[in-house]
Amino acid sequence: METSRSKELFEQAQSSIPGGVNSPVRAFKSVGGNPLFINKAEGAYMYDEDGNKYVELINSWGPMILGHANPKIEEAVGKAIKNSLSFGAPTSREIEIAELIVSMVPSIEKVRMVNSGTEATMSAIRLARGYTNRNKFIKIEGCYHGHGDSFLIAAGSGAVTMGSPDSPGVTEGTAKDTLLAPYNDLTSIEKLVEANKDDIAAIIVEPVPGNMGCVLPNTGYLEGLRSICDKENIVLIFDEVMTGFRLAKGGAQEHFGVTPDMTTLGKIIGGGMPVGAYGGKKEIMDYVSPQGPVYQAGTLSGNPISMAAGLTMLTELNENPAIYDQLTQIGAKIRKGFEENLEKLGLNYTINSLGSMISMFFTDVKVENFEDAKKSDTAKFGTYFHKMLERGVYLPPSQFESLFLSTALTQEDIDHIITSHYEVLKEMH
Ligand code: PLP
Repeated sequence: METSRSKELFEQAQSSIPGGVNSPVRAFKSVGGNPLFINKAEGAYMYDEDGNKYVELINSWGPMILGHANPKIEEAVGKAIKNSLSFGAPTSREIEIAELIVSMVPSIEKVRMVNSGTEATMSAIRLARGYTNRNKFIKIEGCYHGHGDSFLIAAGSGAVTMGSPDSPGVTEGTAKDTLLAPYNDLTSIEKLVEANKDDIAAIIVEPVPGNMGCVLPNTGYLEGLRSICDKENIVLIFDEVMTGFRLAKGGAQEHFGVTPDMTTLGKIIGGGMPVGAYGGKKEIMDYVSPQGPVYQAGTLSGNPISMAAGLTMLTELNENPAIYDQLTQIGAKIRKGFEENLEKLGLNYTINSLGSMISMFFTDVKVENFEDAKKSDTAKFGTYFHKMLERGVYLPPSQFESLFLSTALTQEDIDHIITSHYEVLKEMH
């Protein structure tokens, strides 16, 4: 595979962009080699600067759930652009998208739009602190909630991939208010709550973590968090930046039937444009300025182009529930194919999946939390990643990420993915 143009660009990028990329995991650091510079994408395919075509299973880390260059979204953006790119004043479309989100996501009675998932989680924690008048919060090890200072502690995703789960620049003062518990472990949460009586504002969790690879909640885990929060007046925040509008139109909370007090959203909600949102109970959301005392603002929040893209995306998902059956079927086919391959090859790697999120861990332990995920052989993952890429299958370049499938994948694509998986693992073992 010829990738000389990407190599050239990566070299050039080093002198003007730190590490040559605008978000760390894009640099392929944990899998080695040069990142590919992408030129365009359509449907299920991305094309790099050397003209190579890939069937892609990242979909911009989640947002492109309907595949790339969706004609309806492009048309909505094209129309919106004609009326100027930004006003910094309210628009009717912001009400439309807010009402749609409220109707789709069980926990959300009011919602505030922001520009990224990071902004959503930072704002949600501030609000929970303001609302409860408490300082600390519990974060789950291996969950990633964006790059806000207080979340860069035992964070998954790029943070663990880069080997710096605790980033320099995060002060001890900040870190001391972030309490940590392993995923799927209610006893640890109970102990923390007991040891910090009346000082915990929130528990924030990815209900189905995708940032330590895909990990599923054990039976009763999410319900257990709900009842601890009810008992102790703690705000339960589901970070559904990945799972929102992906696992169901109402996200993981709809799928599992557990309703948090607040929800953070991003990715799909912008249809590919930079958008995030946080929402929840009216009583809590009314603490946000200008109604309440907790400050939060944004020059480009509710940007008309982003709202046009997001509204079109959410309308599509809301009006076509069959999309979720389709995603589940695609996910199930890929999982089954992978499992059959492993069996044929006598391999015992762990596969976790739910709907259109899947991870294969290069370990045979059951992966129920971050410690388990870290038992994976990341060097093997790197080899697997590059060999898949050579066959034109573009996976997330880290063991600690989930595949994000789109409806654009055809049966032919699925067959190609499964065959490549077989050939690559055969070559490796
Ligand atoms: N929360 C979760 C669960 C995420 O997966 C991410 C990003 O991957 C974020 C928050 C941060 O979102 P953003 O990258 O848009 O700031």
